[in-house]
Amino acid sequence: MQNNSTTTLRGFVALCVFSATAVTLGQSTAQEAQLLPRSKRVLTQKEQQALTPQKILDLLKTGNQRFVEGTLTRRNHSRQIRAAASGQFPKAVILSCLDARIPVEDVFDCGIGDLFVARVAGNFANTDILGSIEFGCKVAGAKMVLILGHGSCGAVNATIDGAELGNITSMLANIRPAVDSVRYDGERTSSNAEFADKVTEANVRLTMNYIRKNSPVLRDLEDSGRIKLVGAIYEMKSGKVSFLKPVAKPEK
Ligand SMILES: [Zn+2]
Repeated sequence: MQNNSTTTLRGFVALCVFSATAVTLGQSTAQEAQLLPRSKRVLTQKEQQALTPQKILDLLKTGNQRFVEGTLTRRNHSRQIRAAASGQFPKAVILSCLDARIPVEDVFDCGIGDLFVARVAGNFANTDILGSIEFGCKVAGAKMVLILGHGSCGAVNATIDGAELGNITSMLANIRPAVDSVRYDGERTSSNAEFADKVTEANVRLTMNYIRKNSPVLRDLEDSGRIKLVGAIYEMKSGKVSFLKPVAKPEK
């Protein structure tokens, strides 16, 4: 993305935010927000810039630990809404499945303005998702892209079983490469949890590969260490997120 277009996008965001702020706040609460504890305010640009991709990964891990233990941070969302009206400086982009049982912000003990969350059944990427992630990182400054798959995924299971219905058929075609990529001699059905889990992980890894292959913007950010691209699996029964070990990057 060219610098001038990036500036234009930033300007567009700023204009929208300014308009919203003028209507919503009257007297800005930005200064007040700075004085509030974390539970009542939102990430500032200065704080976003000070974070490293590794630090963000660590924060997501410790946040998930609190989610699993039932010790989520108590947040004042009313105050956070007003504080966030003056701008957004999220630390990460999460690409999650549509599944209603995965409250993404809560899963990482994050509040308003902390995360960009893109959701589509089966957490795959396409051009629209790529554009959204590029906006989140290149324009809005997020430094982490997390592809979050999960166990017992209906989209993955439906793909394995060859389900067909309306537009769901073409949507599941995006997950089919993951099914085909898994070498497995046992029963290749969704009722075989071992096979389904392998497909789920393969789907996350293929999505990461897709991003690297099809987004020069994000690839450049990753290669230069300005963002981290990671995969993870959410475990339904515990709420625990297991981060995948990196593998060698594909040929460019
Ligand atoms: Zn799912």
